[in-house]
Amino acid sequence: LPAIEGDFYHLGDEALKDSDRALQLEVRAFLEKEVKPLVNQYWLKAEFPFELIPKIATLNICGLTYKGYGCAGKSNLMEGILAMEMARVDTSMSTFFGVQSGLSMGSIYLLGSEAQKQEWLPDMQQFKKIGAFGLTEPEVGSGAAGGLGTTAKRQGDKWLLNGQKKWIGNATFADVTIIWAKDLDDHQVKGFLVRKGAPGFTVEKIMDKMALRIVQNGLITLTNCEVDEADRLQNANSFKDTAKVLQMTRAGVAWQAVGCARGAYEAALAYTQKRKQFGRPIASFQLIQNHLVEMLSNLTAMQTLCFRLSQLQDQGMLTDEHASLAKVFCSMRTRDIVSRAREVMGGNGILLEHDVARFVADAEAIYSYEGTKEINTLIVGRAITGFSAFV
Ligand code: FAD
Repeated sequence: LPAIEGDFYHLGDEALKDSDRALQLEVRAFLEKEVKPLVNQYWLKAEFPFELIPKIATLNICGLTYKGYGCAGKSNLMEGILAMEMARVDTSMSTFFGVQSGLSMGSIYLLGSEAQKQEWLPDMQQFKKIGAFGLTEPEVGSGAAGGLGTTAKRQGDKWLLNGQKKWIGNATFADVTIIWAKDLDDHQVKGFLVRKGAPGFTVEKIMDKMALRIVQNGLITLTNCEVDEADRLQNANSFKDTAKVLQMTRAGVAWQAVGCARGAYEAALAYTQKRKQFGRPIASFQLIQNHLVEMLSNLTAMQTLCFRLSQLQDQGMLTDEHASLAKVFCSMRTRDIVSRAREVMGGNGILLEHDVARFVADAEAIYSYEGTKEINTLIVGRAITGFSAFV
């Protein structure tokens, strides 16, 4: 199979089976042809390119690691590599995909009953149904583990949900939103499959974001929102269960950071090889080469770390600390890489048409979602010192 440009330092292509490598190339070609030409205009308008959804469905990569329900049952490594491929072209589209395939389908796959899996997963795998995942609230972000304000009260065969959820990706058009709420009786966090149009469920689009502008984030209000007991995630009994989903998706976000950094690095490298100053390509200047090599060395370290992370995941050995460490490291390094990419492009670096400006902005969202730098740092800090810095 042909090498992928820029993969020379990837240090692991040989670990992919030929069929997986072929899938990587297919996804990359799709993204280059179908997604790349659209993203800057949609990013600017802060709108979602709905016309891409049926096309993405044909790739058959949603819920890639799950077994059954139409999912391909492939490795976590393969899933990570595809997350990187998506973010390399557009981090928003990769986030849309991660919310659908990871956070939403993952909650149902890991914590749903057999009937819930049968009802939702095959259609979500085909993008016939779209999912969202509502954990964060206007007043509760990092402290979600103990502090959720959204409540659930059981009344016979129904539950009444009350509260608000902020930042919920895909929420403005999702067919099902997984709402995490505290049971007023046993005070444990439970998950609910809230269907589009449920009484007492409203969504307002969050406007004027400066990052991931294609992702449609919603502010959800639940006012005595009625949900059947049959739509409670049957195996989600406390926040520890919610955390199982987050561990899996946090590993995916680390790969997403690699993709964002890689997209910016590749654009910067190509630009510096073409752009001439003082009669020579700027890539020939030592100081520019220093930037490029620093970017590549960080990128290589990130890729290698994520590679190992996915291997651990495939062996069933991934811990919260592994995922947090990778998320912290990769999101920090990505900020550095995208900023150097912008720098070597001079003024053109702030123009959307050169793509890097979008990566610079989107890196800020990666830095903060799925656990901020501080929260993921404190998870690792607690493990290595034996002292919890959380209250
Ligand atoms: P806060 O928790 O208010 O934190 C503010 C600052 O304080 C941060 O720097 C934080 O690290 C720091 N801080 C907090 N506690 C401590 C501490 N103990 N020690 C040191 N520092 C601390 N959520 C969902 O549920 N579903 C989604 O689909 C979703 N999508 C998102 C998409 C985007 C684009 C964004 C920006 C966010 C999304 N989120 C989503 C929410 C995201 O997970 C939260 O933004 C994130 O967890 C941080 O919460 P917060 O924004 O409320 O910040």
